[in-house]
Amino acid sequence: MIRLNKIGKKFGQITAVAEVSLAIERGEIVGLLGPNGAGKTTTLRVIAGVLPPSKGQVTIDGKNFFDNEQELKARIGYLPENNPLYDELTVEEHLRFFASLKGLKGQERAEALAFAVKKTGIAEVYYRVIGELSKGYRQRVGLAQAILSRPDILLLDEPTEGLDPNQRRDIQHLLTNLGRERTVIVSSHVLSEINKLANRMVIISQGKVVGDDTPANLTKAKSGQQRVEVEMVGTDVKTALEALAKGIKVSKTGTNRYQVDMAGGKDIRPEIFRLAVKKKWLLLTMKQSERQLEDVFAELTEME
Ligand code: ATP
Repeated sequence: MIRLNKIGKKFGQITAVAEVSLAIERGEIVGLLGPNGAGKTTTLRVIAGVLPPSKGQVTIDGKNFFDNEQELKARIGYLPENNPLYDELTVEEHLRFFASLKGLKGQERAEALAFAVKKTGIAEVYYRVIGELSKGYRQRVGLAQAILSRPDILLLDEPTEGLDPNQRRDIQHLLTNLGRERTVIVSSHVLSEINKLANRMVIISQGKVVGDDTPANLTKAKSGQQRVEVEMVGTDVKTALEALAKGIKVSKTGTNRYQVDMAGGKDIRPEIFRLAVKKKWLLLTMKQSERQLEDVFAELTEME
């Protein structure tokens, strides 16, 4: 189990992480989400043991980095943000170099390389110079490097950032496979992506945890709220809809399209229908929509 006990990190006057406590069980795939500057990268670096916290402790199965640095680092595969690679080396040279740094030699190193190359599907670019590779393949090489020592914990900092949609999908598949036998913490801005991959979302904002639940529970969190999408032709529709009830919020989302948000559990659709009849408006569509994860994210990370 990975346990973060009230960790905080300051850089001079800047508080990157105010206070984060988390317990992550073996086998969990956790999405770490938050806006720019929320403290995701810093949190991952602290968990990876590459940055000491200013306060609090990180333990992995009860062990800390201070007493067990070698052992814990071998258990962690870390893909840093922007995936720094040696562009002038071939993939083979790069991975051999990092395998040696991890203390792997001879047969053991050969096996580690074969394992990482197979898992990440990079055999076809193994002898190519890294600087010539597509961004998707570069990410794969970074992942191969991260799993060389067969870690049971993977920390991935925005692994799909800057990739085109096809490359994103490839990396997502790869992460789903790698996540089967491991504990994974993956940071991202892309909610829909994390939603598919992770079974738990930790949302951080201004260096604090502001949400921690399954994607399904997070969208249910404020179930008192309902949203109705309406397509209606008429005059002054927005104003009239707004006057329908207390606590109603109406936004125009396109030509003749409106989004009606209503606090409280009441279904507002019958009233919208009656209003349309009374005003002789033309009602083309009306449907209730689920609260989107994006809305929850925006609410939770809204700056005070
Ligand atoms: P992004 O999504 O933009 O990568 P993030 O959530 O990963 O953001 P961090 O990179 O952890 O956020 O940064 C949190 C805060 O700490 C920011 O205000 C950042 O400027 C600051 N910070 C991070 N690293 C350092 C550093 N080495 N020196 C000074 N300030 C830093």
